[in-house]
Amino acid sequence: MEEKRVRTRMAPSPTGEYHIGHIRTLLYNWAFAKKYNGDFILRIEDTDRERFVAGATDRILEVIKSYGLVWDEGPQVGGPHEPYFQSQRLEIYQKHAQILLDKGAAYYCFCTEERLEKMREEQKARHVVSTKYDRLCLKLDKSEIEKKLKDKVPYVIRMKVPDNKEITFNDLVIGDISVPSSDIDDQVLIKSDGFPTYHFAVVIDDHLMEISHVMRGNDWIPSTPKHVLLYQAFGWDMPYFAHIPNLKEMGAGKKLSKRFGAVAAKEFLDEGYLPEAVLNFLMFLGWNPGTDKEIYTLNEFVKDFSIEKIHKTDLVAFDRNKLLWMNSQYIQKSQISDLPDGKAGLKSQIFKFFGGKYDAAVIEKILPLLQTRIKTLKEFADLAGFFFEKPKVDKKILSNNWKNHLSMAVEVLESLEKWGKSDIDEGLLSAVKEKNFKTGEFFMDFRIAVTGSKFTPPINESIVILGKYEVLKRLKAVLGSKSNIKY
Ligand code: GLU
Repeated sequence: MEEKRVRTRMAPSPTGEYHIGHIRTLLYNWAFAKKYNGDFILRIEDTDRERFVAGATDRILEVIKSYGLVWDEGPQVGGPHEPYFQSQRLEIYQKHAQILLDKGAAYYCFCTEERLEKMREEQKARHVVSTKYDRLCLKLDKSEIEKKLKDKVPYVIRMKVPDNKEITFNDLVIGDISVPSSDIDDQVLIKSDGFPTYHFAVVIDDHLMEISHVMRGNDWIPSTPKHVLLYQAFGWDMPYFAHIPNLKEMGAGKKLSKRFGAVAAKEFLDEGYLPEAVLNFLMFLGWNPGTDKEIYTLNEFVKDFSIEKIHKTDLVAFDRNKLLWMNSQYIQKSQISDLPDGKAGLKSQIFKFFGGKYDAAVIEKILPLLQTRIKTLKEFADLAGFFFEKPKVDKKILSNNWKNHLSMAVEVLESLEKWGKSDIDEGLLSAVKEKNFKTGEFFMDFRIAVTGSKFTPPINESIVILGKYEVLKRLKAVLGSKSNIKY
């Protein structure tokens, strides 16, 4: 058999915020297509009008792009299989529903919601495990159907699931899966509003868009036999299926939960995670190269990724500590200045993250002190805020000897002729010795008076950057003495 061109897809439904797990699945699909020089397609599955959220599509496209991932065909870029919005493909689904009606593989159903509800209740009372449509409308003859259509009785179109058939498909991750057709309901293909169901539209579009591999979360396995039946009813070749583990909160229930932190893909960026670090973390949620290598660029991932190495587990743990560690690794190895190829350095990323609130020149100066101390961009504000604004000093956390400590610091620093780190170190340390102060206590008071915090980057290096004028002003403000700065 001739090998098909590799074409993968991601098919977001605009029903809410894009989840971090979606980015993981998208990444796998994207990488697989790139590995084989194929195409990665984005399709918007917006046929569920009840769950449709206005503006969600734009936000989904935006967040995918902000992770640096691009699609070869789809919204905004177009492609040979336009349109890429299912809501604009209704005629295609109608046409295909007609094909199945003509083949006897689908039928009109005019049952009302009330009747279906009653039917389900009766089945439940008989302890039927999963309720199914009782095929009442399958008994209608041609003339009855035509009359109802003429009278505009609302209807859905259902698939006629073949009786006594074993539905079998191969999953590239899990292996062979087999389900008796008696387990499958005569699913609705076209709803009463004329829109297709997910099951119907997904099969038609994956076929027409020539998708070679359907890679998605394993919560879709129960749907796949329904899709297989549709491929068979149309007489189409099936794509390869690969169902990948879903994500679970580390050490907790099943799903990721807001109680533990970010869940939406955008939230992670808002928290100050770098897209490359998050992607690197996501690569390992369901796949492993089988080596010790943990830091992966996208190109390296494309090279090493393979479906054979996808984990055969149901769920993989989302370890937030690991993500934080990964992010700190990326921050530490980032260049501070922008790179010649235009890639933004850490300075620009911080500048952008804080919306230009902090001066880029100062950011650049203080980053060497902070780069190994911040795990997210957001933490920059916690550690560096004092460089930009006068801190609030809580005198209650100073030692009993604080006045003497700070007065001495003022005296020593005022008298310094040069404002280098070693001048400051030597000046302060010899005065501490001379006055018999406790070194730790002195420096803690000094640190708090200048920064407002007990936890800061190295204090002497920080005050070199802050400058003599500013440091003396701060010390004097705490002491309550007039800012009579002489130097
Ligand atoms: N629209 C479905 C979703 O929201 C796509 C599922 C699939 O990949 O087949 O996840």
